[in-house]
Amino acid sequence: MNLQKTIKSSSKPFLIAGPCSVENPDQVMEVACALAESGRIQLLRGGIWKPRTRPDSFEGVGAIGLPWLIEAGKAVKLPVCTEIANKNHVESALKAGVDVLWIGARTTVNPFAVQEIADALKGTNVPVMIKNPINPDLELWIGAFERLENAGIKDLTAIHRGFSVYNHPKYRNVPNWEIPIAFRERMPNIPIICDPSHISGKRDLLLEVSQKGLDLNFDGLMIETHPNPDSAWSDAAQQVTPENLFRLLNQLVQRSPSPDKGAKKELEEIRDKISVLDDRVFDLLSARMKMSEDAGELKRDHNITIFQQEHWAKMKNKRIEMAKGYDLTSFFVQQMMDAIHQESIRHQTKVMNPKKDNSTEE
Ligand code: PEP
Ligand code: MN
Repeated sequence: MNLQKTIKSSSKPFLIAGPCSVENPDQVMEVACALAESGRIQLLRGGIWKPRTRPDSFEGVGAIGLPWLIEAGKAVKLPVCTEIANKNHVESALKAGVDVLWIGARTTVNPFAVQEIADALKGTNVPVMIKNPINPDLELWIGAFERLENAGIKDLTAIHRGFSVYNHPKYRNVPNWEIPIAFRERMPNIPIICDPSHISGKRDLLLEVSQKGLDLNFDGLMIETHPNPDSAWSDAAQQVTPENLFRLLNQLVQRSPSPDKGAKKELEEIRDKISVLDDRVFDLLSARMKMSEDAGELKRDHNITIFQQEHWAKMKNKRIEMAKGYDLTSFFVQQMMDAIHQESIRHQTKVMNPKKDNSTEE
């Protein structure tokens, strides 16, 4: 199949579903039948080799499961995909007749592994999807695409599955949406699929993350689906039954990237008003920095240091406490205050040490 073409010509978001791991022939057949019946799923997923954080977790059934996945796909007339992480996986998967391969997040981080896969794929025309690396490194993600392109693999698609962080209160993998957006700017011809399952880590976040992906104009979704999620051998908390997948899909609102004429005019008006407000923010920031320079002059004349830790901590905490009342996140306020503070120090330094060259701080 030509995956890029299929995704791009799909009028609705391209949907990939299936279990995190293939467990046995009945499990994958059961879920495939339920998914295919809806007519909405275009690609069946199933993990055969599972890269797991801890060695005592289930690491996939291995090559023995390939014919189970292939049979299930054939029975319901859906192409199938699986994750590969080395050249042996590539050879076994292609020999078994897997239609689409994907490189997992833990493999994309490793250029040796990606190069080995690229070399093993040379001379084939199999479509490959590349998940973002687990760390938020756009260049590493792009580098993996370049390695495959250099090996002559042209049918490439990206999967955004979020980025690892320690102990996040909400996400299993934080989305850092700005990274897939930057990816799209750099590689505009590569379709991007959102993987809400691995971003969320739990079922009740799937709808919110899926909607966000669609609102950001992603080309499709990959959602882990299992006949009996709670007893799944991997990623149990984030998998859903086919029935709940369809319920979720029915709740998604599909918005158009290009507004119709009436909406376009209204949107332009709102954007004009936003632009006026942004101008005011600039004026205020500029006035604020002039005030910092006044403080700098006073500090210079009285030989006071620029930075007074206690005062700054008080100012910053006050703003963070105010955040909620203004419907701003404390994370945003913290970042904004830090940025304002840095710029303010630059202005004060300019006044206090006029002969020193500040150009490197700009
Ligand atoms: C998976 O898709 O089951 C998987 C292991 O994903 P990731 O590489 O995103 O962790
Ligand atoms: Mn999984």
